[in-house]
Amino acid sequence: MKPFSYVRATNQNTAIQGVADRQSAKFIAGGTNLIDLMKVEVAQPDRLVDITQLPLSEIEINSDGLRIGALARNSDLAYNPEVRSHYPLLSQAILAGASPQLRNMATVGGNLMQRTRCYYFMDIAAPCNKRDPGAGCAAIEGYNRIHAIFGASDKCIATHPSDMCVGLAALDAKVRVAGSNGDRIIPIADFHRLPGDIPERDTVLEQDELIVAIDLPNSPFAKNYHYLKVRDRASYAFALVSVAAALEIENGTIKAARIALGGVAHKPWRAFVAEDILVGAKPTEETFAAAATATIREAKPYRHNQFKVEMAKRAIVRALINATEKS
Ligand code: SF4
Repeated sequence: MKPFSYVRATNQNTAIQGVADRQSAKFIAGGTNLIDLMKVEVAQPDRLVDITQLPLSEIEINSDGLRIGALARNSDLAYNPEVRSHYPLLSQAILAGASPQLRNMATVGGNLMQRTRCYYFMDIAAPCNKRDPGAGCAAIEGYNRIHAIFGASDKCIATHPSDMCVGLAALDAKVRVAGSNGDRIIPIADFHRLPGDIPERDTVLEQDELIVAIDLPNSPFAKNYHYLKVRDRASYAFALVSVAAALEIENGTIKAARIALGGVAHKPWRAFVAEDILVGAKPTEETFAAAATATIREAKPYRHNQFKVEMAKRAIVRALINATEKS
């Protein structure tokens, strides 16, 4: 591990200033991803700004929905009674990820910022445009079983690893950030990027921007929802494909639908085409199959991950069936 300095921020402004004047400075909270990356020299910050003393851990229900402090621990969020009651899809998605020990340590803000688990990104001997811009991408012609089938580029085909973010994408979360130039609110759909020509940037955050909270609007999806995660092991494995499905059903007709996929793109992948097919239709297996078929039409698999296309299709149908069976 490369030497680095460490400072503990006592307020939001000193935290932001602590990273604003150094390009390779980073915020640290739970450290469940960043420390791993530092150990293998994939991340080499020269300063860590510890934000764990900032008062950003509250989880509060209000008239607009739910506000989740960026430093709330994943476990605290998943088991929060308001979340379980009003946003059970989010709770289910979080509990599908990592292990209890990691969820106890990891923060919500850190979950949004976690980096890809592409094997070549983690191996400093391999060429990787995300870790070393311009070096090339070992995955495109290499072993790409876990890689993207949607939205990739000729620079990077990595996937975003989070389960929680897939749930947040389905629930139309907004990310509140603060920086040297003021505050802003970023819809979750715009927060993570597709790789394009700059795969080294996972999100639209500027260097000096700090996530302070995540807002969820009031949700009609507390009754018919399901988070389905398909993976190589029953626990503690990243998704090959995951689906967050949520339906609002009124008088036997789908009034609103949300479908987001994980493990298939550089960001949580909202299946808007599927949602359009579902709204106004009856919640039948035939409708679900039509929505799933339309979603995978734009898939572009690579040599070793063609199985993900059929897997995504079946996972969408299964998640929707499970969602309807909750009523
Ligand atoms: Fe690097 Fe992305 Fe290629 Fe993986 S897929 S080797 S992260 S550039």
